[in-house]
Amino acid sequence: MLTVENVTKRFGGFEALKGVSLTVERGEAVAIIGSSGSGKSTLLRCINDLERVSSGRIVIDGDTLVETVDGAVKYPPEKELRRICMKTGMVFQQFNLFPHLTCLENITIAPLQILKQNRADAIANADRLLRLVGLENKADSYPAMLSGGQQQRVAIARALAIDPQIMLFDEPTSALDPELTAEVTSVIAKLAQQDITMLIVTHEMEFARTVADRILFFEDGEIIAGGSAAEFFESQQNDRIKRFLSGFQ
Ligand code: ATP
Ligand code: MG
Repeated sequence: MLTVENVTKRFGGFEALKGVSLTVERGEAVAIIGSSGSGKSTLLRCINDLERVSSGRIVIDGDTLVETVDGAVKYPPEKELRRICMKTGMVFQQFNLFPHLTCLENITIAPLQILKQNRADAIANADRLLRLVGLENKADSYPAMLSGGQQQRVAIARALAIDPQIMLFDEPTSALDPELTAEVTSVIAKLAQQDITMLIVTHEMEFARTVADRILFFEDGEIIAGGSAAEFFESQQNDRIKRFLSGFQ
């Protein structure tokens, strides 16, 4: 479903990604953990074309977002690029809802304006998604009237509305209080049960352990370890990672 091959990303002289490779299979939930500044957000932003890679290759659902041929980085033409980007749905730490639109309008705006869905279908789908995230009674509320956890659930519904092939979550709960965190993680757990393909950056170790099929550990712009969630958390051999994990107990 998603292939990332040897992706590097430089900001001036600083190399934020130093040759990252990973795959996510259809239906898999993969969690990325690792220290602050290790390049986790940068990787998600490259997959969603919010940043351009310095080299490497990214293939999403059979479509090449970027490849590097003889040292030259090649992206497809704008229209094709937009089409490929619609295959990913991104959820950010800070919700990023449109404040002047109701929840329903936040969810229907991309289906109506970009996918050109008809209004009745877009609204019916938004109603279904609001039920999925447990907010069927908030369709006409504005984001400012909702709690952080509710706003993040609307943001998840909005990302799902374009029917993406893979959902990208960048620390979806780190701006939330513990109680609100639980309502968001349980929605994401529900998506995982429905076999929605996901790549999740998180600092919530318990959430990663219970929701993810696989864990990848980032350090200084590289994936230095990975494995099944059980293996990673219960029989971790790497001292650096053991130290990292002990900080969360
Ligand atoms: P956190 O857990 O704090 O969110 P992260 O693993 O997501 O960290 P990134 O945000 O990907 O880390 O940043 C990786 C490195 O790249 C950091 O050192 C950061 O300062 C640098 N960086 C990120 N974006 C830019 C940018 N636009 N310009 C310059 N440097 C950047
Ligand atoms: Mg980040």
